[in-house]
Amino acid sequence: MIDDKLQTIFDQVLHRNQGEPEFHQAVREVLESLGRVVAKRPEYLDQALIERICEPERQIIFRVPWVDDKGQVQINRGFRVQFNSALGPYKGGIRFHPSVNIGIIKFLGFEQTFKNALTGMPIGGGKGGSDFDPRGRSDGEVMRFCQSFMTELHRHIGEYTDVPAGDIGVGGREIGFMFGQYKRLTNRYEAGVLTGKALFYGGSRARTEATGYGNTYFVQSMLETRNDSFEGKKVVVSGSGNVAIYSVEKVQSFGGTVIAVSDSSGYIVDKGGIDLGLLKQVKEVRRGRISEYVDLKGASHGTYFIKARDGSIWDVPCDVAMPSATQNELTGQDAKALIANKVMAVGEGANMPSTPEAVRLFQEAGVMFAPGKAANAGGVATSALEMQQNASRDSWTFEQTEARLAQIMRTIHDNCARTAEEYGAPGNYVLGANIAGFVTVAESMRALGVI
Ligand code: NAP
Repeated sequence: MIDDKLQTIFDQVLHRNQGEPEFHQAVREVLESLGRVVAKRPEYLDQALIERICEPERQIIFRVPWVDDKGQVQINRGFRVQFNSALGPYKGGIRFHPSVNIGIIKFLGFEQTFKNALTGMPIGGGKGGSDFDPRGRSDGEVMRFCQSFMTELHRHIGEYTDVPAGDIGVGGREIGFMFGQYKRLTNRYEAGVLTGKALFYGGSRARTEATGYGNTYFVQSMLETRNDSFEGKKVVVSGSGNVAIYSVEKVQSFGGTVIAVSDSSGYIVDKGGIDLGLLKQVKEVRRGRISEYVDLKGASHGTYFIKARDGSIWDVPCDVAMPSATQNELTGQDAKALIANKVMAVGEGANMPSTPEAVRLFQEAGVMFAPGKAANAGGVATSALEMQQNASRDSWTFEQTEARLAQIMRTIHDNCARTAEEYGAPGNYVLGANIAGFVTVAESMRALGVI
């Protein structure tokens, strides 16, 4: 429920941003948490502070023309939403996926603002992307697209202005092509303008692993509050991209067994535990579909593939669920199946993967629930460490960087838990994350005046 004092703000958001359901969903969740804050701290209602937080500072929409391998001209649409720079330069990934539109980018930018605040690093919130689908495109086509995308984007970004990174459909290859074009257009070797770079031109060790590792550290901290751990647990991770693969890697190192992963075509089960080497071979080397895992390993009673239309990965019984694919992929029905199978904890690797109904069901059932804006903050936190290394022309070891990541995730966990308790909702990490993130951004905005 949204508090009466905040309802008019939400009505205005609905009116101003019509036809953007994901953005409405993200704003509603935060406003639902803020009733308790404005009751204690009514000054946050002054100077239209919350209205300003819900309105992006700048939204850029542009044409991206490029030529495919057949010589045909293709047109895509590019977006960058610079949501809030009260804490530092805008920071947030770029997503290439056919489902991208302004509402999706706005919801991601809004979430990013609070997530970045939770990391404790000096970074504001932003997000970008395009409805371009890299699947099935040659390296040459992806390069020409990235160059055209950056030809417009370069005038809006910079190490002190806006620092993009990867997200769905944007990994090391795409970041390389975009950095190359930025360098060419500006005649500046400005390493700090993009993060997620490869190691040999200014990337950070552990950045590739950071989001999946970070979510695993967060869930481990939640389990510890009940004197438990990943040891011996059955885990299901959805998706099989960057976040999913490195969640599998870290869960395995903590003694858990990941038994299922997926892509948009379906999911695979390997009851003996996912073979990480084979998973990386299929997804990172061959850029293939997840069903190829079963083709290569051989189908058996314990190893099989189920098409998306024939079932949901959340029907697979597990102790811990880590949704790591995309928004609203885990529905109320999925939550009911997981609860019936006695799931203990859910850690969101993706952004807003659980529907509001699913979140409510988990909380009512006493399932430990880690929202993405806290649990997947390890990626952007390590991006900020990459910016630090670039600024000081330094390069840290993997161990040094991972130790910082682990410490940051522990701090975020404890901050969310403490804030939830302080506001009368112990164990509610959604409330804790929303309030802790909001207060940090709000304090900074108050200090900066009406801008
Ligand atoms: P990625 O490497 O592109 O992988 C995305 C994975 O999700 C792929 O396996 C993809 O399968 C699957 N997927 C996408 N849409 C799907 C759908 N509708 N149903 C089922 N599966 C679907 O992307 P990523 O970087 O891992 O990002 C995954 C999530 O984590 C996103 O929500 C992203 O915003 C969030 N996140 C990422 C980072 C980061 O550092 N990368 C940081 C914070 C949060 P297909 O190949 O079939 O599309």
